[in-house]
Amino acid sequence: MSIKIDKNKCVGCKKCIEVCPGTLICKDEDGKAYIKYPKNCWGCTACLKECKFSAIEYYLGADIGGNGAKLKVLETIDTLDWIITHENNKNTTITTNRKESNKY
Ligand code: SF4
Ligand code: SF4
Repeated sequence: MSIKIDKNKCVGCKKCIEVCPGTLICKDEDGKAYIKYPKNCWGCTACLKECKFSAIEYYLGADIGGNGAKLKVLETIDTLDWIITHENNKNTTITTNRKESNKY
């Protein structure tokens, strides 16, 4: 399990650094976030949910989305859209209500 941070989308707000329970994410010399200890990521998805710029993608296991599948999160006022990009580049979107997120 691990994540990938797109430097072109990252604005250096540090939210992902603050929420990562393993202190795995750092800032580089350009002020952009990067994951320093990718092997230690256990996939809690806290950083994905916190990034308002969809700069973080999470690598899914082959049993979930197929080889090379990735997950990212887009936030709206009321929802979180969990977008799975499969190996064939097709997307599956799962929408959750943010106000009821503790039910999931
Ligand atoms: S939360 Fe997103 S935009 Fe902010 S530092 Fe992390 S990756 Fe960059
Ligand atoms: S998924 Fe969780 S453990 Fe992994 S880098 Fe993000 S916040 Fe840290």
